[in-house]
Amino acid sequence: MSGCRNCGGVLQGTLGLTQSLLGVRLLSQGAIKQRLEICRACDQSVTCRHNDQQVCRCNACGCWLKHKTRLRGESCPQNRW
Ligand code: SF4
Repeated sequence: MSGCRNCGGVLQGTLGLTQSLLGVRLLSQGAIKQRLEICRACDQSVTCRHNDQQVCRCNACGCWLKHKTRLRGESCPQNRW
C-alpha cells in the first residue's frame, strides 16, 4: 500500500499494509465483502489489470482496496462506507 493521500501518508499506509498482511484488526468476511461491493460500484475504483472483475485501487486516496477494506480503522475518503 502506498501512502494514502487522505489519511496520513506513507507511515499510515505502511502500518495498514502490515496489519492487513499480519491479520491484525481485521473486519469479518461479511463486512469486508460489503465494503468491496461498494467500492466495485464506485466511480473512484480502478480495476485490476490482470482481472477486470476485481477492484485494485481507490483513485480518491490511492490505497490498495484489498487491504484498505479489511482494516477496522480504515474509512472511505468519500464516506461511502
Ligand atoms: S474507498 Fe470509497 S471512494 Fe474509494 S473506491 Fe471505495 S467507495 Fe470509492
